[in-house]
Amino acid sequence: MMARRISLYLSLLSAALFIATLTFWYRSRHHVDIATIYTPAGNYQGIAAQHGGVLLLFSNIPGGKESAWQVHGASADPEDQQLIDFRDFLFAPPARKYSVLDFRLANGTVPFMAQLNARYMAVALPYWFLTIVFGVPPLVPLKAAWRRLRRRRGGLCVACGYDIRASSGRCPECGAAIPERATPSRAISAGGREGET
Ligand SMILES: [Zn+2]
Repeated sequence: MMARRISLYLSLLSAALFIATLTFWYRSRHHVDIATIYTPAGNYQGIAAQHGGVLLLFSNIPGGKESAWQVHGASADPEDQQLIDFRDFLFAPPARKYSVLDFRLANGTVPFMAQLNARYMAVALPYWFLTIVFGVPPLVPLKAAWRRLRRRRGGLCVACGYDIRASSGRCPECGAAIPERATPSRAISAGGREGET
């Protein structure tokens, strides 16, 4: 029961992320949405929803102790040359490790911060991929609910699908309890003898 509840919450979370992905995908035509997050140590981390996908940036670029835990949001023009240059710089060799379809991975040092030994990892994930990743988990409970409804309507055991139209109490196949309303055909055929059951 606990596992079922956790999987339900994960499905809801996934559904929320699915909707967020579609929203940012749509917005990315005219906006680049950027969130800057500083770790407790004050290191710069970033996430950007831009044209084509989401960019994650992990780094130990120091923002200063006073930046710890801070989160900033910003929206920028997709045509902003500085942003384009920055993105190109992140994924340029030798930092670039992979670039397949719209997936990109880079891992390197920040040249103008060499004395700070600033390192970063950048990951680019396309929207279509995130849509699939977040869109599939919510379908699992939906599919299960649809199956339960279909079985209930068809006079079948909700647990195993066995035909229980001629049964009452417990399913002869799996022993699951049969709810009163699972046998509407019997209730109708019983007519005025409802008091006997
Ligand atoms: Zn059953």
